[in-house]
Amino acid sequence: MRTCVGCKVKDETDKFIRYVEFEGKPLPDIARKLPGRGFNICPNFNCIKNFVKKRFKNKVSPEEVYEYTVKALKDYFLHLLSLSHKTGVTVIGQDNIKRLGEREGTLILALDLSEKTKKRLMKSSYLIVDNVFTSLEIGNALRKDRTIGAVFVERAGIGRKLREIGEKLQKLINSRR
Ligand SMILES: [Zn+2]
Repeated sequence: MRTCVGCKVKDETDKFIRYVEFEGKPLPDIARKLPGRGFNICPNFNCIKNFVKKRFKNKVSPEEVYEYTVKALKDYFLHLLSLSHKTGVTVIGQDNIKRLGEREGTLILALDLSEKTKKRLMKSSYLIVDNVFTSLEIGNALRKDRTIGAVFVERAGIGRKLREIGEKLQKLINSRR
């Protein structure tokens, strides 16, 4: 169990974003591997704001921390998506995704996919990562030389980690919308 520095809520370690201090600024440690004292923060802009005010006042703005945290989460997510694809836990193609039964996993929908198509692919058992990546970014992560509008990742193997990061990324982005 860990406690958020921003709001004092207690939860499982993997629900928080870990930061370490680096050159006077909070550096997001998305993979939770950097040495040194860590700060745990909810994936929420208000918690980032409180955290920065308490620990890094006048050194960095909460908006800047938010921006580079989203960037770090996105990069790590795409890295995990690439690994997931290599280990065979991804499903590509709208028809293939539609044919899946009730399964646990993450559905990634590109920014440029139509709302109608998105609705057809969604299921309640999925974590949905929507409006975060372009179809070009998804295509590149899967090493396809084409754009990909939708990909499903099973909640197995590396797909578990991907879901954990996807959840934090979506929560953090939604907290500013
Ligand atoms: Zn919090």
